[in-house]
Amino acid sequence: MRQIVSSENVIENEDMSRHTTFKTGGPASLFISPADTEQLKKVIEVLDRISAAFFILGNGSNILVSDKGFDGAVISLRKFSEVTLKDDTTIVAGAGALNSAIASFARDNSLTGFEFAAGIPGTIGGAMIMNAGAYDGEMKLVTKEVTVLSPSGEIMVLDNSTMEFGYRTSAIKGRGYVVLSAALQLEKGDQEAITAKMAELASRRRDKQPLEYPSAGSTFKRPEGYFAGKLIEDAGLRGYSVGGAAVSDKHCGFVINKGGATSSDIYRLITEVKDKVQKESGVELEPEVIMLGEF
Ligand code: FAD
Repeated sequence: MRQIVSSENVIENEDMSRHTTFKTGGPASLFISPADTEQLKKVIEVLDRISAAFFILGNGSNILVSDKGFDGAVISLRKFSEVTLKDDTTIVAGAGALNSAIASFARDNSLTGFEFAAGIPGTIGGAMIMNAGAYDGEMKLVTKEVTVLSPSGEIMVLDNSTMEFGYRTSAIKGRGYVVLSAALQLEKGDQEAITAKMAELASRRRDKQPLEYPSAGSTFKRPEGYFAGKLIEDAGLRGYSVGGAAVSDKHCGFVINKGGATSSDIYRLITEVKDKVQKESGVELEPEVIMLGEF
């Protein structure tokens, strides 16, 4: 690996609590940060050859990593962070670019349509995989095409319809595709209005969400016809805690690390919340958060 990416970009037994917004999780056997697609392809080829498991990491804002860690390689795409203007209204962003950085770039170029994503604390790669969305916006509405590395090592360009974006899902989710970059189709807009909208959405987030605590955002998907937070509140679980993990008082849809939580605490809390809600309302909650490692 060190011959493919330079030695400072391969770390053994890297603590995943440093790379997740929950700030929990044990070590990954290898933590690799390729600089470009060529390096990434070679890294994956080697891992495939030795049948080692690997996991593609964005900003770690939607994952829960086991306290026992991950017996495999975590590949971080944070070096794929370039954001450029392709033409008057199209932005091309590397998979590791943060949504916040892309939103600022769009604002600086007076492009509107991406304001909704400014406060989603992940990368565009992670956002594409699960069609991240907020405040009536979603990736589906702004994506022109997505460049991916297929499981067989081919680079493919998928247009919006081929991505089959759905609620927190896409055609490539869980299928071994790596997002390399995304082209976003925005519209010319008024810079002051864009700035104002971003500020307004940020303030709505601060008012409603427990941003002062580590979390992975909404822990559960929205069940059809319900709101997860309301079901959890109605089940009497506001503030309910297991170890250092708690259902947020401010927003029951968020499980937070209120201090010193382990991933096991969080996992147990998620399981207990699911069970209690099922018992009280008959609705089955499905975690939005992706688990990595053994639980
Ligand atoms: P990660 O958490 O690193 O990974 C998530 C999944 O995507 C993993 O399966 C990973 O393997 C895969 N992945 C990541 N990058 C790639 C890639 N390049 N190629 C292939 N697979 C990849 N989400 C929303 O949708 N709306 C919200 O409003 C929202 N608010 C949030 C608020 C807070 C405070 C927090 C902490 C989270 C919030 N989230 C929200 C959840 C999270 O930010 C999103 O799910 C985000 O899209 C995850 O991106 P990431 O880069 O952090 O991905």
